[in-house]
Amino acid sequence: MKLTGLQIFKYLPGGKKEPEANCKKCGFPTCMAFAMKLPKGEATIEQCEYVTDELKQLFEESSQPQQEEVTFGPPENPVKVGNETVMYRHDKKFVNPTCLAIRLDSSDANFDAKLEKIKNYSVERVGETLKIDAVALFDTDETFIQKAEKVAEHKIPLILMSEKIDEETLARFNAPTIVSGSTVEELINKSQTALDKGIKNIVLHLNNISPENLISSLTQIRKAAIVDKFRPLGFPVITFQKDVKGLSSDPIEQGILGSVLICKYSNIIVLDDLDEAIMYALLTLRQNIYTDPEKPLQIEPGVYPISEPDENAPVFVTTNFALTYFSVAGEVEASNIPSYIVITPSDGMSVLTAWSADKLNGEIIAKTIKNYKIEELVKHRKLIIPGYVAVLKEEIEEELPNWEVIIGTNEAVDIVEFLKQYRAQYVI
Ligand code: SF4
Repeated sequence: MKLTGLQIFKYLPGGKKEPEANCKKCGFPTCMAFAMKLPKGEATIEQCEYVTDELKQLFEESSQPQQEEVTFGPPENPVKVGNETVMYRHDKKFVNPTCLAIRLDSSDANFDAKLEKIKNYSVERVGETLKIDAVALFDTDETFIQKAEKVAEHKIPLILMSEKIDEETLARFNAPTIVSGSTVEELINKSQTALDKGIKNIVLHLNNISPENLISSLTQIRKAAIVDKFRPLGFPVITFQKDVKGLSSDPIEQGILGSVLICKYSNIIVLDDLDEAIMYALLTLRQNIYTDPEKPLQIEPGVYPISEPDENAPVFVTTNFALTYFSVAGEVEASNIPSYIVITPSDGMSVLTAWSADKLNGEIIAKTIKNYKIEELVKHRKLIIPGYVAVLKEEIEEELPNWEVIIGTNEAVDIVEFLKQYRAQYVI
């Protein structure tokens, strides 16, 4: 853990009440001001000439990352893993999302088709384009390097698994160095050897292990890195699902283990094959785990036109919780009925949460409609509000006397059908 400003202050002349205290030679008015700047990187330890060797060593040790960040893949499409600083997501945001990779064998008869499928897999969720992060290529015949070149042509990051791999080849494909062991003790020894050789982009790999031992070993490794700052285990960890004893190739079973591994504590997960539905579930989970628990995903309040709406277009109102907006926008788009979506400032809360916290009420909706001049965008005066807050109808109509409030659906998934009926009922 990094030293705090107060902990640093105790070692400075100011904290020890020495004659040099607050001499200002460091460029700060007091020792305390200097101490507070150090952990943020806004000052360097060398700025104070009175810093003791003891503090220098403590500061250096505390500034070492708990878990190294490893970057691999082509410069245009790199993957970053590691650099985590906490054990639990409720303490602080996790840093680099779990890398989800697919295994390919160089001898696979369907290599090209599988690579094409991996390359083309792409889904949109909450405004993000999600793709397969990497390919883990296994050396199973003499075409290994040729197959690695094929993957690299598509700018897909590579993890190379071969007994014969050398540092030059790893560097050529900018692939990480995989250090394997079947126990944590073996990993410690091998990792220390790699460290002694000056290798930096280490990724730890537990092989041939049962699911129960895998989870407890991964937890032990993460704890050793984060809490104990134990250098040989302070690296990202990769799990190949094929290595897990007793795990079948059933996509559901692989998906379940993948979900557990996203939470605890694999930085890279290599699935045996690409099953689109399981991959989508894992990407969704990952997106949720790797958001900041203190900041819900939100979008800017405003008016969002969907599919070039005109003056007759329906007007929806909802909150600025990103998942709510993207669910509504997706369904409106699917309906092929161009519409406006007006987003209220609701601190990133979903509809019911915002309503119960008084972040979505008649006054806020009316103010938003006026702020964004919706009257100038459409010639009708009909507002569609989420079904869950039907209770706001009267309140909004009082605030906006020219407008009629239409109660929309509770769930976004019913919007397509709702819009068909809306079109039949109102001339648009
Ligand atoms: S140089 Fe700065 S930190 Fe060091 S003793 Fe003087 S005021 Fe304090």
